Amino acid sequence: MLRVSIAKCKSYDKSEVLNAVENAISGIGFKIKPGSKVLLKPNVLMGAAPEKAITTHPSVIDAVCTILDKKKCKIWIGESCGLVKKGGVLQAFEEAGIAKIARKHDARLVSFSKEKLRKVRNEQAAFEKEMHLPEILFNVDLIISLPKMKTHTLMLFTGGVKNLFGCIPGGKKQQYHAITGTKEKFANLLLDIWLNVKPALTIMDGIEGMDGNGPGNGNIVKPGIIIASDNAIAMDIVAERMIGFEGEVPTNAIALKRKLINPADIEVIGEEPRLNFVKPSAAVSKLPAWLSGFFLKRVVAYPHPNPKKCKNCWNCVKVCPVGAMEKRNEKDGPYCGKNKCIACYCCQEMCPYDAIELKRSVLFSISISAYYRVLNLFEKMRKE
Ligand code: SF4
Ligand code: SF4
Repeated sequence: MLRVSIAKCKSYDKSEVLNAVENAISGIGFKIKPGSKVLLKPNVLMGAAPEKAITTHPSVIDAVCTILDKKKCKIWIGESCGLVKKGGVLQAFEEAGIAKIARKHDARLVSFSKEKLRKVRNEQAAFEKEMHLPEILFNVDLIISLPKMKTHTLMLFTGGVKNLFGCIPGGKKQQYHAITGTKEKFANLLLDIWLNVKPALTIMDGIEGMDGNGPGNGNIVKPGIIIASDNAIAMDIVAERMIGFEGEVPTNAIALKRKLINPADIEVIGEEPRLNFVKPSAAVSKLPAWLSGFFLKRVVAYPHPNPKKCKNCWNCVKVCPVGAMEKRNEKDGPYCGKNKCIACYCCQEMCPYDAIELKRSVLFSISISAYYRVLNLFEKMRKE
């Protein structure tokens, strides 16, 4: 059986979180071998204060490290976030309150972009049979993934599987956004990464999460839970049901299609709350996978920098994988060239001032309403 355990946790109070993490881990019967070398992979999308609910909360990492300390484990905490500010990933760890926790537990902080890489080949992969991953992933005894419970503009939800995208070093992430192009291909790539990394344990910070336009600019929500599982896909399938997105998250749908998981094998331990997460407003995430490629390339919602909020930090220009976001001069804000834009929304994710809005084109609105009208007509005919 693949076990998913849910423990209630109403606040980030240190002892309450430790208790919940211990309960969630013991709920699935997971045992940590004493003296293990352990790599933690939190979600550090960018350097953001813990109360913004963008990154895995330091209290959750503190709790996991406390458990590992008791077992005399050696700890590494690694990430490859999209941050381009001075100081890179290590600065992001500082801002997210994680560096302080690392110092407390004598854990080493790792920027995956600076690590030696290993070329791995996996014949089970559907999109990328060969990829380069940080060597450290293969030199530890245990990988624990620590995702944050959030919506995602492109992939609808970011959980256990999506969190592993942060194992891809540096600009390769942007390149992957550029070459995948559709959410279906991107979901296949994420599952290929999961096949190579396969964390033995995933613990999700669902004490506070994000709905709406996550992963960086949504609304803070308080599900009040910690979830643990020995299988990241199983956790995501249970989580999508809890947040009211059942059957819609592309990574889950494609994992089922690829027979990477059998839902009948999932056992849930603990009470499954009903959480009604608000979906991202950018409609591309709501489209079926076969349509998303068409919409992504033609009638998608494009990023519009808002001059009233923009501080001309040029993060969006630096992260854009295809050079669509341009700096034309020092005075005017960034400009998005729609002909080049592949709608990966990296710029929106990485804007520290929430200055990038995703706006639908008129053609998009007409197309989507026509699409749903035809769909309703077919549905009516089918019922008759
Ligand atoms: S402008 Fe933004 S959404 Fe468009 S390709 Fe560049 S980073 Fe992606
Ligand atoms: S839109 Fe955001 S990321 Fe881009 S320059 Fe303005 S503030 Fe910086």
